[in-house]
Amino acid sequence: MVDEPGHVVAVVGAGPAGLFATRALAAAGCRVLLLNRDIKPGGLAEYGIFLDKYKMKGGLRRQFQKFLSDPRVTYLGHVPVGPDGPLTVTQLQTFGFDALVFAIGAQGTKYLGVEGERLPGVYHAKDLVYHYN
Ligand SMILES: Cc1cc2nc3c(=O)[nH]c(=O)nc-3n(C[C@H](O)[C@H](O)[C@H](O)COP(=O)(O)OP(=O)(O)OC[C@H]3O[C@@H](n4cnc5c(N)ncnc54)[C@H](O)[C@@H]3O)c2cc1C
Repeated sequence: MVDEPGHVVAVVGAGPAGLFATRALAAAGCRVLLLNRDIKPGGLAEYGIFLDKYKMKGGLRRQFQKFLSDPRVTYLGHVPVGPDGPLTVTQLQTFGFDALVFAIGAQGTKYLGVEGERLPGVYHAKDLVYHYN
């Protein structure tokens, strides 16, 4: 992070929402600590797109990398924030940030209620793509 005055903001979640928030905050002169559960930034734009979609993934990665290369931005991956993570929201609140932004997405398996959808060997598409990524 650069050492200059200005607000210091923690953004939790580095999916498209957290990354675009980070870009806007940095452009406004804030220093941003971006904490992300996944190792790589991008959220579902990284982990939800099948791995051989090189063109789409490449374009998104280049765009996100540009945001992250701003000297006002520090990225830490593999840091889940929450009651079961290494860092709780309460702890984060005591660190003296001027603002906290939560952009943790709405990932999760949605069930339709059809017969057999929870049987062993039935996989949710997102989990499958996430696994291969
Ligand atoms: C298969 C698929 C195809 C899609 N195709 C398109 C498309 O063509 N066009 C389009 O516009 N949209 C598409 N989408 C939707 C798009 O990917 C989502 O709308 C977008 O990713 C949502 O962004 P987000 O930042 O809100 O959340 P997410 O992308 O879900 O990112 C959330 C981030 O928060 C992090 N996080 C979660 N919990 C925590 C925690 N406790 N602590 C710290 N970090 C946490 C995660 O690691 C992740 O990086 C697609 C989605 C899927 C699954």
